[in-house]
Amino acid sequence: MKFKNSEKIYEKAINIIPGGVNSPVRAFKSVKRSHPIFIKKGAGSKIWDEDNNEYIDYICSWGPLILGHNHPRVLNGVKEAIELGSSFGLPTKMEVELAEMVCSCYPSMDMVRFTTSGTEATMAAIRVARAYTNRNKILKFEGCYHGHSDALLVSSGSGLLTDGYQDSNGITDGVLRDTLVVPFGDIEGVKNYLKNEDVACIIMEPVPANMGLIHSEKKFLEEVRVLCDETKTLLIFDEVISGFRLALGGAQEIFNIKPDITTLGKIIGGGYPVGAFGGRRDIMNMIAPVGRVYHAGTLSGNPVAVRAGMETVGYLMENKDTLYKTLENNVQYLVDNIKKFSKLYNVPVCVNSFGSLFTIFFTEKDSVNLLQDALEASEEKYAIYFNTMLEEGIVTPPSKFEAHFISIAHSQEDLDRTLAVMEKAFKKISEM
Ligand code: PMP
Repeated sequence: MKFKNSEKIYEKAINIIPGGVNSPVRAFKSVKRSHPIFIKKGAGSKIWDEDNNEYIDYICSWGPLILGHNHPRVLNGVKEAIELGSSFGLPTKMEVELAEMVCSCYPSMDMVRFTTSGTEATMAAIRVARAYTNRNKILKFEGCYHGHSDALLVSSGSGLLTDGYQDSNGITDGVLRDTLVVPFGDIEGVKNYLKNEDVACIIMEPVPANMGLIHSEKKFLEEVRVLCDETKTLLIFDEVISGFRLALGGAQEIFNIKPDITTLGKIIGGGYPVGAFGGRRDIMNMIAPVGRVYHAGTLSGNPVAVRAGMETVGYLMENKDTLYKTLENNVQYLVDNIKKFSKLYNVPVCVNSFGSLFTIFFTEKDSVNLLQDALEASEEKYAIYFNTMLEEGIVTPPSKFEAHFISIAHSQEDLDRTLAVMEKAFKKISEM
């Protein structure tokens, strides 16, 4: 495989865009490549780079593309919306329709506000929680990523972990003091902070997927819910990844736990920029112009993006009875075979999966449940895995701290081709 065009573009990019990319994980640094691949187009389960190399895609834009690239229903909807205008800065009927669709899938949400990204959704959710409780501090879990607003770039996951740190520079001491952090699953830590500090809200990924995919215990989530109720602390489920992906109603449907506020993103925009936060009516009515918690956006509820979201969510609603099971079965098929390769080539792994998500940790450990476990997994072996896959036409996450995403466009043929290359990768790792 040749990467000449991507290399040339990168030489220009590095001079004009920090690191040559607009989001750090794209740089392929931790998988030890000299430059990323630059993507030209996508269709179904595949993407093509500027050198015309074809790949089966297991990034799927980090989650939005549960229907695959340019699903005809989404594409046609977007084309129709574009013909009517790009943006008005005035409300449209479609925003109300998407809001109704979202709230019908999430019984915990009486009302919802749209944003243009998951970051804005979590940032606004925290602001509302602070106003509602009249308290200052927030509590998050180690290694969970909730976007790049100041308060949430503490003990964070995703690209920060990939680049070997957890707290961003450029954040004031005051903000650092107001963000409390405990390890995921540490109920005593949660209890201690809720009882002794001025905590407005707990924000959590109910199924953490930004330190690699980590298993989540229903019991832990239930205990967190009870503690929040006892201390009148708001519970925010950040379902930017899990929403509409693990089930139509996200992790809260699967675990049957109602958060006070939910944040969404990715799938509700079907590949276009949409995020959302929503919750109980009394909480959401704190927001301007009803209340005095300010949230706004020139492109919030953008008609083209909202239409993409409506078509994607509409498709999921119509096909929910079969679609989620198929995705899960397909991931299970991959995972079962990965475990076989692990035994066959004597390359120990722990594979965490949930629905259409999975992460391969190259580790001797039987389980990876904490950030510390994920940190200990081999980055070197992951890099060999990633590079073997890439050079044989399969794009996997360029970091051991991210999940693989599959879509309904991934065919049996795609899965079998993927497994054939995975076997080569395991063989290569065994020869290290
Ligand atoms: N929350 C979670 C759980 C996420 O995974 C992400 C992004 N990967 C975000 C928030 C931020 O979303 P965005 O990148 O759209 O700002």
